[in-house]
Amino acid sequence: MTQTEASSPSDFIREIIENDLKTNKHGGITATRFPPEPNGYLHIGHAKSVCLNFGIAMQYGGTCNLRLDDTDPSGESLEYVDSIINDVHWLGFDWGGRLFYASDYFEKLYQFAVELITAGKAYVCSLSADEIREYRGSFTEPGKESPYRNRSVDENLDLFQRMRAGEFEDGAHVLRAKIDMASSNVVMRDPILYRIKKEPHYRTGTDWLIYPMYDFAHCLSDAIEGITHSICTLEFDNNRALYDWIIEQLITGRRPRQIEFARLNVSYTLLSKRKLIELVDKGYVAGWDDPRMPTVAGMRRRGYRPEAIRKFCSIIGVAKNENLVDISLLEHCVREDLNEVAPRAMAVLRPLRVVIDNYPEGQTEEFEVPNHPQNQAMGTRKVPFSRVIYIERDDFHENPPKKYRRLGPGREVRLRNSYVLKYERAVKNEHTGEVLELHCTYDKDTRQGPPPDGRKVEGVIHWVSAEHAVPAEIRLYDRLFNVPEPAAESDDFLKNLNNGSLEILTPCYLEPSLKNAAPGSACQFERLGYFCADNKDSRPGKPVFNRVVTLRDSWQKISGQGTI
Ligand code: ATP
Ligand code: MG
Repeated sequence: MTQTEASSPSDFIREIIENDLKTNKHGGITATRFPPEPNGYLHIGHAKSVCLNFGIAMQYGGTCNLRLDDTDPSGESLEYVDSIINDVHWLGFDWGGRLFYASDYFEKLYQFAVELITAGKAYVCSLSADEIREYRGSFTEPGKESPYRNRSVDENLDLFQRMRAGEFEDGAHVLRAKIDMASSNVVMRDPILYRIKKEPHYRTGTDWLIYPMYDFAHCLSDAIEGITHSICTLEFDNNRALYDWIIEQLITGRRPRQIEFARLNVSYTLLSKRKLIELVDKGYVAGWDDPRMPTVAGMRRRGYRPEAIRKFCSIIGVAKNENLVDISLLEHCVREDLNEVAPRAMAVLRPLRVVIDNYPEGQTEEFEVPNHPQNQAMGTRKVPFSRVIYIERDDFHENPPKKYRRLGPGREVRLRNSYVLKYERAVKNEHTGEVLELHCTYDKDTRQGPPPDGRKVEGVIHWVSAEHAVPAEIRLYDRLFNVPEPAAESDDFLKNLNNGSLEILTPCYLEPSLKNAAPGSACQFERLGYFCADNKDSRPGKPVFNRVVTLRDSWQKISGQGTI
């Protein structure tokens, strides 16, 4: 990616940075970081943060660190670390060797805590978790000081050291900052800095039995790495005072600054890790990379390209107010992106067999057709035609409704890239009346143009030659939830799952050029939408395709707002 590509329209964060550069506030340096906790896969909200942090670094000639914020052993794992590294790379960003782990700072952070205790700014508190909560007060009531608040420095140092040595059980003591129990900002009422947690850590094993809290670890990790602008989401607004307090006590010289922006919410999906984990663990989806998931891995498997995701992140911009972005905007970006780059092909999803009675038996013709209607550089391919073809079931109607421009009794249609086809008769199941097969005739003078006698035909339909068709499995994915805000009313978001979010069709028939489609490659099935060979299950000779996105926004049509 180039610097220009990474630049987005300006926003309040970029304004702050430009101003800081002008006033030489950070010595002309812009250093950001993307700090995911490895307790889940990255989702589209994280992608926004990735684009913002890495994009700013590229735009202003700065650096962006990838920091695994792994200070809480519960739920963290190497699998998540690997997926995060993979996904950030795939999104198109590079940290140039600046990959860090907050867990590498455990010793440094411990020493910082000792420094605070020595300065009389932190103490070991032995209240229970419930008591601490009770003593904290509320938005309207000031807090109450802990009876342990005035322990001597020596006693605190001794207890803290013994917490580290494993002498106490979980919850017996915590280390708290000594700030102000009457502060109007609840966060500042002697917040917890360290707790005992006798749980092995995926990297440090059992070396540590106490772990720093986010508020303590995060700002100091920023300072250790020389971060200038620590960009985070709005819910940390109240924590900024604590961020600054800790930095002020412990860091001299260059200090990082926290800036908050509104987190991304997208309609018809969820971006809470806890809820996404529940979907995976309870088997509502087939893993973190299920193509319906809003995860980077899911979107990649679905067939979204990083270009489309970056475009989306650039369009939605950065703001200070929470809002809900319509998922159709993301789908629009995906559609626009694929429209440019995806080669066209023909595939029949719900096949109806058609015998062309006047086409010579055993004959095959090969039509050379363009891979892209606008882009000649994408070349051509050969599509075979023969006496028996498949068309889409719903491209034939015995009693065509008004405005139906496809095949029916007495009608002719253009076969895409081929001849004009005329309906003759249908073969039906005598008991059910189901149409099993059509018999048609073709007009051999229509290969290159309209019928010479000037008669009009109905619309254009797609087809695949039966003899040459490649059977395939096709997975039609749709939105995961059937309401715009699945967790708005209650936490019972599972009741809003869209039962029709996956439909598997087999056998479908593809034109032969798709037989060995490379897993992960996308194309447009003409008239149907964009599809992508599944990056896990598709094999050369045995293709499996995912529907990436329809050609138009079909949900808009349903809700009656569209004009399609
Ligand atoms: P957790 O509840 O586990 O803290 P999280 O979504 O905050 O979940 P992190 O791994 O802490 O996950 O997030 C890493 C970075 O991504 C943070 O800087 C966070 O602000 C940012 N981020 C997370 N979710 C969103 C979102 N929906 N929109 C924008 N940025 C986000
Ligand atoms: Mg977080």
